[in-house]
Amino acid sequence: MKRALVIGGGVGGLSASIALAQRDVAVTVCEASPFFGGLASALQLGATRFDGGPYILLDPVGLEAAFEALGISIAALELCRVDDVYVVEREDAPPVRFFGSLDRTVEAWERDHPGQGLKYRAFVAEMTRIHRALTPLQTTARPSPLALVRAGALRHAPFLLRSLASVLARAGFSPAIADAVGIWTHVAGQPLARAPSPLALVPAMIHGPGCFVPARGVAAVSEAVTARAREVGVQLRERARVARICVEHGRARGVELVTGERLDADVVVSDASGLSTLLELAPVPPRARAALAALPLQSPGLAAYGLTSTSDGGPYLQFRLVPENAEAPCRLVVRPAALPRAPPAETHPTRIVAPLAHEVAERLGATGQGELLDAILAEPWVRDRVSSFHELARRVPASWGQRHVLYRDSMNPVMTARFMRQGRLPHRVDGVEALYQVGSSTHPGQWVSFCLLSGLYGARAAAAWLDGERA
Ligand SMILES: Cc1cc2nc3c(=O)[nH]c(=O)nc-3n(C[C@H](O)[C@H](O)[C@H](O)COP(=O)(O)OP(=O)(O)OC[C@H]3O[C@@H](n4cnc5c(N)ncnc54)[C@H](O)[C@@H]3O)c2cc1C
Repeated sequence: MKRALVIGGGVGGLSASIALAQRDVAVTVCEASPFFGGLASALQLGATRFDGGPYILLDPVGLEAAFEALGISIAALELCRVDDVYVVEREDAPPVRFFGSLDRTVEAWERDHPGQGLKYRAFVAEMTRIHRALTPLQTTARPSPLALVRAGALRHAPFLLRSLASVLARAGFSPAIADAVGIWTHVAGQPLARAPSPLALVPAMIHGPGCFVPARGVAAVSEAVTARAREVGVQLRERARVARICVEHGRARGVELVTGERLDADVVVSDASGLSTLLELAPVPPRARAALAALPLQSPGLAAYGLTSTSDGGPYLQFRLVPENAEAPCRLVVRPAALPRAPPAETHPTRIVAPLAHEVAERLGATGQGELLDAILAEPWVRDRVSSFHELARRVPASWGQRHVLYRDSMNPVMTARFMRQGRLPHRVDGVEALYQVGSSTHPGQWVSFCLLSGLYGARAAAAWLDGERA
């Protein structure tokens, strides 16, 4: 039997490990931390369970496809459809509400932002058409010109070449509406002008297949994948941090752990951050290193997890934009208690999030990050949204980095328009045979579903290489 060594037990690495085991490969996953699931794992604080990172699933179609390929029943997740999805508030404009129902959204906007609702309806119809045409491109990290022609994507080249800001301006949206539609780039700590146009496709997903949260939270996804990995015989090793990938004569031969233990393998697949893999673990040529080191990064931002007595219905996600605050222009309150299936209780798990640009996080350092979170938690808007908030835990970029072994405390390269057009980091590492990458750096999207799919594609490439060896 051929042997594969997977570095990192995030959703991307776990997905790759299952896909390889399904192809008769003996797989070991080495995970640095004492738990699996990476950024998508749960945070258990006393009797209360929180989602540490992800809070919403915006791509149920991709998730279902990935689960089917991995042999996991999606029903086990007990997905709960979110109808009152989000609101974006700001000082200078009425709130902008987003419902799963397009009709309800248009109606609310026509009342609060006359004229914008009808423009939104036309915009969603156009984005739905483009999304359908571009879906095949999600199956590869770097679509070739031939793949673009086959998918009929060339017709949409002008769309792909624009920034998100330009797509939203062409739709005729006011600045408040454009910011609200493009909120998913604000949560990445990035302005609309630098974000890639495909983020404009999110409304097509919200009003099409819809968005969901599993009954036990998004961490149920990583738990289902971890259980499946055990079931198919993957050897899962926690507290096994890889110090380097052993490369001999240009070929990966295994890894060495920080303890000095060496593990041999026929192929190595890394789910550690793409830049960690290439700049810290593998001997990549200096020429390639400079370009990689210059990529702009995405910070996981600030988060406080706690209990609140506020339980009224309303939107699951409440955003506030503060454009005049250059350091932290966005806040978000995540309210699982607002979901239809939330159990009745006196206090409710609630998360307060403030995205940060990576350069701001680095400049502030751990102490400054903590002080900024304190200041945000004391803001009247936040206090109004979460009455008597009792904080149980917090995360700032420095602590995310430590807990999840992140490259320079970042999640991955941030998705700029230029990087999106060039594709992501390829699954096959250039210049090192038998070394592959999976996870958020290798897919033109960074959601949980995309990371699962990236694991499948990376495993497919690695298995094809092993088949060549077998032959
Ligand atoms: C605050 C926040 C909010 C988010 N919100 C959403 C959302 O709402 N919806 C959504 O779909 N997605 C969301 N995401 C994104 C999503 O969670 C991630 O993109 C995804 O979980 C990444 O999975 P991964 O497998 O690529 O990487 P990771 O989860 O980072 O896994 C990599 C694993 O590798 C391990 N590792 C690293 N280096 C080593 C080493 N040297 N040796 C051994 N192990 C190592 C790490 O410990 C980690 O477990 C969010 C993320 C964050 C942080």
